[in-house]
Amino acid sequence: MRVAMLQGPRSIEIVDHPEPVVHPGSVVVEIDRCGIGGPDVEAFRTGQLPAPAWFGHEWVGRVVAIGPGVAGRFEGERVVGAVPPPCGTCRPCTAGISSTCELVLSMIVGTDPLASNHGAFAERIGVDARRVHRVPEGIDDANAALAEPAAVAAHAVRRSNQTLGDGVVVIGAGTIGILIAELARLAGAGHVVAVDVQAARRELACALGADAAFGPGPEVSRWFNDHGHGLGADIVYECSGGSDASQTALGAVRQGGTIVVVSLAAQTGSLVPADLVARELTVRASLGYSVTDVHRALDLMADDRFRVSAIQDRTVGLDELQTAFEGLVGDPSLSRKILVSPQL
Ligand SMILES: [Zn+2]
Repeated sequence: MRVAMLQGPRSIEIVDHPEPVVHPGSVVVEIDRCGIGGPDVEAFRTGQLPAPAWFGHEWVGRVVAIGPGVAGRFEGERVVGAVPPPCGTCRPCTAGISSTCELVLSMIVGTDPLASNHGAFAERIGVDARRVHRVPEGIDDANAALAEPAAVAAHAVRRSNQTLGDGVVVIGAGTIGILIAELARLAGAGHVVAVDVQAARRELACALGADAAFGPGPEVSRWFNDHGHGLGADIVYECSGGSDASQTALGAVRQGGTIVVVSLAAQTGSLVPADLVARELTVRASLGYSVTDVHRALDLMADDRFRVSAIQDRTVGLDELQTAFEGLVGDPSLSRKILVSPQL
């Protein structure tokens, strides 16, 4: 079968790979669509991956083989790849802190014992059966391929403790930021405002229902002076990783408000304790997602309340993957999602 392997910086090779086989506790899935995510683009740019299975991890497909000991799955079942329920036996789980389950974290990055030596830019992939989740009726393959980033967005909104009518700012209007803006509205936000350096992303955010969109800087806090009873935003989601993002967040959030950090960027910011203490701000981190977030996101997608299709761009085959990645590295303003169909 054909598999796209990342061979180094900006180098993808389509290789003839042996077919995956089932092991106890695993299934083989034929991939229908796999989304190209921001981490994939970064891996393509640098040639660095936490694990080979991570290159292409937003996928939907059909179960084609089931290993010994796997219950509740059937051949032909349409599934998405995501994280399993907490294992219940690792150190955090046995201490009652299952939100940091070591098995879940290992599956997020593709280092679990049953992880494949390639990602889902492939015709088929073998995975731990606990990682697959049935796709409800009413979600087509192209939308189902967005279940993983949708779950990341759902996790952030659920972590925020957002309540009815809250004013929300989303910094960074890429895929995750756009999906968070949509879900924040579904969760009852009053105003939703996006901040992004790229004009194309600001336009997309407004087209998808944001009240306004600005570049980084003081404009967003001025907007809330006019529209938020002069108080600023109740919740700020930081999804950009930009070096000036913490200043924009502090400028936008109200006294006693909450900043939810979603970005995994490692840049040194300028967040100092006094800024938080003097205004009694809450900072919450949102890492990945849980199986609950996957189910909630899929359910909201199934009855068309959560419209992820608006962020899709196009579907390409494996032979076009190198060119698609080159385009994404060359133009960071692209915020719509490119999907890959290995069967094309
Ligand atoms: Zn565990």
